[in-house]
Amino acid sequence: MEILELVKKYGTQEQCIAKLEELKWKGKPVCPYCKSETSSKRKGSFRHQCRSCNASYSVLVGTIMESTKLPLPKWFLAMFLIINAKKGISSLQLARDLGVNKNTGWYLQKRIRQAMNEDDQILNGLVEADETYIGGSLNNKHEKLKKKRGYNISGMEHKTPVLGMIERKGKIVVKVLNKAWGQEIKPILKEKLAKESELITDGFGGYKDLGKYFSNHVILNHTKKIRKIGIYHTNTIEGFWSMLKRAIIGQYHKISNNHLQDYLNEMAFKYNYRNRKDAFNTLLFNSLKI
Ligand SMILES: [Zn+2]
Repeated sequence: MEILELVKKYGTQEQCIAKLEELKWKGKPVCPYCKSETSSKRKGSFRHQCRSCNASYSVLVGTIMESTKLPLPKWFLAMFLIINAKKGISSLQLARDLGVNKNTGWYLQKRIRQAMNEDDQILNGLVEADETYIGGSLNNKHEKLKKKRGYNISGMEHKTPVLGMIERKGKIVVKVLNKAWGQEIKPILKEKLAKESELITDGFGGYKDLGKYFSNHVILNHTKKIRKIGIYHTNTIEGFWSMLKRAIIGQYHKISNNHLQDYLNEMAFKYNYRNRKDAFNTLLFNSLKI
């Protein structure tokens, strides 16, 4: 979708409400409080009056857009801009593009990233898993502090470990770790991967003994330069890492560790929907569930 089309289709509050009602209720409003399907439309507003419990509600109850005074066309435009910014868009830029103050820009980005979290899915089939470290550009303050404490600047201690799991020709899930070790990695893999999956990893010790849990565990010994055995390789996840690192260069100083998981959710969502026309609709739909 192009931006002109977006403005034409969702340029008014009415158009946005109609779209959300269609996505959420398919034309039949359901009371969020008592689940009754009998209601009457309140005149001159977007609210419905429940005939069972007498509450009034709109499609926004229980969504990320509830309790904001921001017009819905701005929410829609914010989602559009975030989806279309390949390397991400700063909340300040978002605020400028939407004509809102910087706090609102920050709030919008945070809530929309929450709707991009598709954490509930289970991966299956051939699944590549790999860990990497994100970050590394120390600012001066940290550098001085580290020197003072005698840390090795070239070490990994200032980087954040991240675990990625990607279904071959499917979706990716990325998780921030406290530490890249088996104690943390294994429970995540057991939770996110179906037992029937074939897991593919390198020889890192954190993946040890997972063969008995999944239907297969193919370990590629990268240190012995074994990168591929037939269909088994980790090129897909490595491709995602290089894309992610290119995107982060030049803007990582704005992503604190607290926001890294949100940022990764955004990048994963965009990767998962990169060639799909339903990215925007999916994001709208997800935003109704929160
Ligand atoms: Zn009700």
